[in-house]
Amino acid sequence: MQIFTTIPGLRTFLADYRHDRSIALVPTMGALHKGHASLIRRAVAEAEITVVSIFVNPLQFAPTEDFSRYPRSLDSDRQLCESLGVAAIFAPSAETLGIGDSEDITAVIPPISLTSGLCGAFRPGHFQGVATIVTRLFNIIAPTIAYFGEKDAQQLAIIRQLVRDLNLAIEIRACATVRETSGLAVSSRNQYLSTAEREKATIIVKSLQLALESFHLGERQREKLLAIVQKNLDRVPEFRCQYLDLVHPQSLQPIEQIETDGLLAIAGSIGQTRLIDNIILRQRRPVIAIDGPAGAGKSTVTRLVAEKLGLTYLDTGAMYRAVTWLVVNSGLDLSAEAAIAELLSLAKIAIIPADSPENVTIVKINGQDVTLEIRSPAITAQVSRIAAQKAVRQQLVTLQREMGMSGGIVVEGRDIGTNVFPEAELKIFLTATPEERARRRLKDLEAQGNGGISLAELTQEIEKRDYLDSNRSLAPLRKAADAIEVNSDHLSIAEVTEKIIALYHQGEENQWRSL
Ligand code: AMP
Repeated sequence: MQIFTTIPGLRTFLADYRHDRSIALVPTMGALHKGHASLIRRAVAEAEITVVSIFVNPLQFAPTEDFSRYPRSLDSDRQLCESLGVAAIFAPSAETLGIGDSEDITAVIPPISLTSGLCGAFRPGHFQGVATIVTRLFNIIAPTIAYFGEKDAQQLAIIRQLVRDLNLAIEIRACATVRETSGLAVSSRNQYLSTAEREKATIIVKSLQLALESFHLGERQREKLLAIVQKNLDRVPEFRCQYLDLVHPQSLQPIEQIETDGLLAIAGSIGQTRLIDNIILRQRRPVIAIDGPAGAGKSTVTRLVAEKLGLTYLDTGAMYRAVTWLVVNSGLDLSAEAAIAELLSLAKIAIIPADSPENVTIVKINGQDVTLEIRSPAITAQVSRIAAQKAVRQQLVTLQREMGMSGGIVVEGRDIGTNVFPEAELKIFLTATPEERARRRLKDLEAQGNGGISLAELTQEIEKRDYLDSNRSLAPLRKAADAIEVNSDHLSIAEVTEKIIALYHQGEENQWRSL
């Protein structure tokens, strides 16, 4: 692991990787704890190169706040990063980030609608300070992916908006809040708390938990949910509540009633320490992501799981076929990537998932039904060339996310759990040894009268394909850090399906995301 304090040092280091590797950024203010560690672990698992930035940003502290006493522990931070597999730490000075004279800098101002409520109302200038520094870090590092904690939900919503508004090609991934055994959200500021205060501080999470229980029992009204929390918070007068609010998780506007999801957020102090916490109350059927190497039985299993659970099978393959049809029919050369990106951006693709396993996904392009045409051998032969194009992939991932937003879907692929639906409620990594997959493939080939290849040759072919799939720069095969691995070596299709369904029910019992 390397440590850089200058921009030329870091940029030169990253230049070697930039063409064909994904670069992850985990921005932090140091004093790393297990909350940060969970972001870092995920970054290391999902990207090739992970950079952790450590910078106690003076712009985000008001003069009355704890900038000078904020904990700093570069030595132990370095050890933790090294042990987790971080490639580089970026620990610049304020001057390096161009904010030596903070009065006279180019600042980034997020929309007032996002900064006026919640913490923004009590910390004027805070989110402008965050946005200004995060934008600088994004420009210096140009990461492929950046990781943020859900604990700072307002910050997360602001960063997502910033990336959209400034057209930055960065994927933002949110990580669940890490908690102490007591439930208290882990925070660098927890070290200010005395033992007694730490105990009192658990009232925050306990109150959120009550709201969650009530939500699961059907409560959707703001007034009722806030009253439950407030009443419980009142039991600990040492907690001086600054705000308690129920807002939409993206727009951050207060909501009267939860339609699909709501963000219940609390801030306040105990002694001299300011604490925040929140919970997402989400009413959606789950998303099940099934990733794994080719030949592990993903597509059959995915269809069966969808059928048995009454969920929708989201056929991503049909989308790539649809684009291939569009390109072939427009007469464009299949390698004309820019023209294809333009064509696809202007096209209207409608995917109507099959309502039963006997039916196929209906696909319409610009109003024309192409359901049958996209299955032709001519399209089948070309689809992988189209699917290998970055712009196509990005646009279809956006479409897949839109379709999966309200949940209730099962999707299979190589990077569904890590990239397309990283927030999926259930992630399965379905695998089998190359030998077993070769045996199955040989059986299929022999059944079609196409034997003549040895098991050893097939195994080698499969191992080669696995290597290519795991090392491709676009959508590489990755097991998500929170995926459950299912090895199908000694299981039938029906047994694998049953196993996934059992995991689904287990998750449902745990209500997917309890605190
Ligand atoms: P900070 O160093 O406080 O600026 O935090 C750096 C990143 O770690 C931010 O994206 C935070 O949201 C995230 N983070 C801090 N605490 C936690 C936690 N307990 N669980 C998950 N993420 C966290």
